Amino acid sequence: MEDASTGSDSDYSNSWISWFLSSKGNEYFCEVEEDYILDRFNLTGLNTEVQHYSQALDLITDNLDDEIQDEFRGTLDVQARLLYGLIHARWIVTARGLAKMLEKYKKADFGRCPRVLCQSQPLLPVGLTDVPYEKSVKLYCGRCEDIYSPKSSRHGSIDGAYFGTSFPHLLFLVYPNLIPPKSGPVDFSANMRAGDVEGGRRNRRGREDQDPPADSMTEGFSTAAAALKADRYRPRIFGFQVHEIAKLQRWQEAVRDRQIARLEQLEENV
Ligand SMILES: [Zn+2]
Repeated sequence: MEDASTGSDSDYSNSWISWFLSSKGNEYFCEVEEDYILDRFNLTGLNTEVQHYSQALDLITDNLDDEIQDEFRGTLDVQARLLYGLIHARWIVTARGLAKMLEKYKKADFGRCPRVLCQSQPLLPVGLTDVPYEKSVKLYCGRCEDIYSPKSSRHGSIDGAYFGTSFPHLLFLVYPNLIPPKSGPVDFSANMRAGDVEGGRRNRRGREDQDPPADSMTEGFSTAAAALKADRYRPRIFGFQVHEIAKLQRWQEAVRDRQIARLEQLEENV
């Protein structure tokens, strides 16, 4: 079925994990080392989250009895994937797990930021919740500090809980030299905004038929309302906001609030 495996036949048939990792759509996952899985301490509490826990564990560690009926294998496979995902979320925030994900990040296995100004910054997977079956995985950009949905639907349907809410922020905490440069965040963004406004004015003067704010106004669309609605992503490590980013976000939100107030004033005056 999967011909991507370059290992020998026995490798392929003997290891559930290598089969799982080589399956299409599972490219975001890294290999959880077997001794981590076999240390029951690391799996504390997972027996209440996964049905047929011990058989699912046997399946992913290749210790499952061959006599298990085929119809049960289907159910068991779903539970094994869930169990592997939940173990994976714990593993990638350990030192060895972070190092494995770092290799994938360097190869841009998780894709690149679609925002032009981020200049193809590689992304990192992140969950919006640590509870399974709630939210699919998102991709975090360390440069614009925003999150994006994966391009492919195969990746878009992966459970975010298999990566967890802390992973990318912990990676940057452990490897601070990898934090992408922002070219001086405060001044840079202030300059960009001033530049945008200047350019907009020039355009309007030059081409009177193209006046975007007026156009959108006729459709009953309020820029201020749209800006107010936009939710911001808040990086957290084990539920706590990341200090430096939180500080920057407070400043950015103050700027945004001022901008919204200006927009509201402009819209009132139309
Ligand atoms: Zn970005």
